[in-house]
Amino acid sequence: MAQKIQAIRGMNDILPDQSSVWLYLEKTVADVVKSYGYQQIRFPIVESTDLFKRGVGETTDIVEKEMYTFDDRNGESLTLRPEGTASCVRAADQAGLLFNQVQRLWYTGPMFRYERPQKGRYRQFHQIGVESFGMSSADIDAELIVLSARLWQQLGLLEHVELQLNTIGLASEREAYKAALVVYLTQFKDQLDEDSQRRLSTNPLRILDSKDEATQALLKDAPNLEEFIGTESQAHFDRLQAILQANNVPYVINRRLVRGLDYYGKTVFEWVTSHLGAQATVCAGGRYDGLVEQLGGKPTPAVGFAMGIERLVLLLETLDLVPSEAKFAADVFVVSIGDEAEIASFVLAEQLRESRPNLVVLRHCGGGNFKNQMKKADRSSARFTIILGQDELEQGICQIKDMSTGEQKTCALDKIGAYFAANS
Ligand code: ATP
Ligand code: MG
Repeated sequence: MAQKIQAIRGMNDILPDQSSVWLYLEKTVADVVKSYGYQQIRFPIVESTDLFKRGVGETTDIVEKEMYTFDDRNGESLTLRPEGTASCVRAADQAGLLFNQVQRLWYTGPMFRYERPQKGRYRQFHQIGVESFGMSSADIDAELIVLSARLWQQLGLLEHVELQLNTIGLASEREAYKAALVVYLTQFKDQLDEDSQRRLSTNPLRILDSKDEATQALLKDAPNLEEFIGTESQAHFDRLQAILQANNVPYVINRRLVRGLDYYGKTVFEWVTSHLGAQATVCAGGRYDGLVEQLGGKPTPAVGFAMGIERLVLLLETLDLVPSEAKFAADVFVVSIGDEAEIASFVLAEQLRESRPNLVVLRHCGGGNFKNQMKKADRSSARFTIILGQDELEQGICQIKDMSTGEQKTCALDKIGAYFAANS
């Protein structure tokens, strides 16, 4: 036998028993975002490497060590998108959708990061992203957060996630803070973990994120970002909190939350859960007023978030929150005996699908004896089996067996839709 080829490490197949959960989640998200007036945007999986270098930031984990970058046959450097925001900005700006306009957009699809695969962390993973452009006031930040809270509520997740909120101020405020942080931490450079030593010169804010205990201990006496936040940023943050409170969305302020990407300013937030171990963040976002300009567009305020589909699917499964209607199940299995009845059963199944489009109607293909077909009906777990043989055909009827009770009833062939309207 030829050797089988395996999937790439960290890139998963989503098999039929899981895909129904994905479809349920995606449908729920699509309905919620639509109800807030967000429209879907689709953009390519591959972009020019420069887009992410400039958009995500040269000193971020993503660009430093996680991107799938390759030269195409022309020698142009391309990258499999590691996130959606930079591409979304590129696409919307290229189409002239950003200048002096308000846009509410969302997208979904695979993202690629070369990370160490583990539960909730993969090399191909999927995000749903929601982005808004052209609005600078805190009510749009609040809208996105309230929208996400509504989504958790619809999914039954609201009590299992916590909203963490912070403001990281304006670029000038962050610069002043970074300078103070660097002065403070440089005194203890030798005691910092290796990544943080490097970040001292590249991306000092990220040191706040360090998982290293010694580094975290040093940070206890470090200057506070809060003290560098100016009145405009603070007013924005206060307004956001007032709207969240008015809508009964609870939150905690996490002053260490800075987010890993360069483009954020003012509001940053994460929804975290205690049910997924280290991969605790299911949704993360914030304001990124500088990004459009950084990518060559006109200055455009923007705020958005992205959620990780795998982590949400894991969470729904862990908490047993997938409703039974969302799971795939056949409703009706159709069997037939004889050539003529086979064709008639095909027509009958079509009539049923036509009149009751919500039913899952599985028709046995390929004939065979009655006993074998009934075994397949059993295995399908369909609630009803329609049986059509030559005798039934001549009388213009079929048998309908309720598989849970064994009870069998007859139904006129031309009344099949009405029968299931009344009985299922
Ligand atoms: P983390 O700190 O877990 O690495 P991140 O800050 O890199 O997350 P973002 O870039 O903000 O993540 O992406 C938004 C969301 O996408 C995350 O909150 C998470 O739910 C999901 N996500 C990010 N990276 C992965 C991955 N490698 N595998 C699965 N989901 C991921
Ligand atoms: Mg990451």
